[in-house]
Amino acid sequence: KTRLYSGMQPSAESLQIGNYIGALLNWKSLQQTHDAFFSIVDLHAITVAQDPALLRENTRRTAAQYIAAGIDPSESTLYVQSHVAAHAQLAWVLNTITGFGEAGRMTQFKDKSARHGHDGTTVGLFAYPTLMAADILLYDAEIVPVGEDQRQHIELTRDLATRFNTRFGETFVVPEASIQKETAKIYDLQNPTAKMSKSAESHAGIIWMLDEPSVTAKKIMRAVTDADGGIVFDRENKPGVANLLTIYSVMAERSIASLEDEYAGRGYGDLKKGLAEVVTGTFGPIRERVLELLDDPAELDRLLAQNADRAASVADATLAKAYDRVGLLPRV
Ligand code: ATP
Ligand code: MG
Repeated sequence: KTRLYSGMQPSAESLQIGNYIGALLNWKSLQQTHDAFFSIVDLHAITVAQDPALLRENTRRTAAQYIAAGIDPSESTLYVQSHVAAHAQLAWVLNTITGFGEAGRMTQFKDKSARHGHDGTTVGLFAYPTLMAADILLYDAEIVPVGEDQRQHIELTRDLATRFNTRFGETFVVPEASIQKETAKIYDLQNPTAKMSKSAESHAGIIWMLDEPSVTAKKIMRAVTDADGGIVFDRENKPGVANLLTIYSVMAERSIASLEDEYAGRGYGDLKKGLAEVVTGTFGPIRERVLELLDDPAELDRLLAQNADRAASVADATLAKAYDRVGLLPRV
């Protein structure tokens, strides 16, 4: 089976609908045909300030959300990044072959460092992409299912793998991004030209997987649209409506054209009501299941430990090979 790797940061109490549509749904369908590794990337989350007690809790919650959304931890390897030491270790080696200018060109770094200011911007945030490259390369992953915002990081990962292989001899598999075109970027409901993100300052435009259905419905009813009135898909001129149609289409498994037909001549209120029903219909049961799973944290922790062992057995072998290629003296 082809190897697959992906992950999400436990940077909030809940995942948001962009994570579900851009990543999780894709993971779910790929896990059956691939040898999949899905990580909760806590080492990435601490590249911006996190409250320690909350981080620990959010890590469990993220694991529970993977499972509730359909990731099967006996089929796929679902584990916490910091439980496998090799991630940080390989990241260090990759730091030494990454150009300063190269890392500085990453748009996620530019966006996040602008948000956190000079003093809030850490070396860790700068090195985020090399840690991500390590995540992927440790597992010889051929495919990395992510949202559009991660395309540039996968490109860098490919460059680093190729560079390492050229300099030190064939070691890493050069991975490919798997990005679903139409759904690769879900936008904030209050600011439909900005990506929806867990760590956005305002939560008003975020649909959380774990929000109560009534809260989700309210947020959708308040989504920013336009004064034009037509329910047609026009990303340029009607970004709010286009975003709602995209989300609707994925969640209801219907084409955008059939939604345009159904809502032709009707108001935005109708569209939003329909969308709220579809979203809460999917997220309601997921939320229930997450709460059940969180009722037994010891069982969840046990499962994560087992999966971390499985991940480490693959990762440690790759790390040893990379250390050897670079010329680090093996400890006998
Ligand atoms: P943060 O704000 O902390 O960076 P995030 O919401 O961007 O959180 P990540 O943990 O960084 O989430 O990313 C997890 C996965 O979700 C990645 O594959 C990413 O590409 C995808 N993703 C994130 N936001 C969106 C979005 N708005 N639309 C589609 N995919 C997304
Ligand atoms: Mg992100």
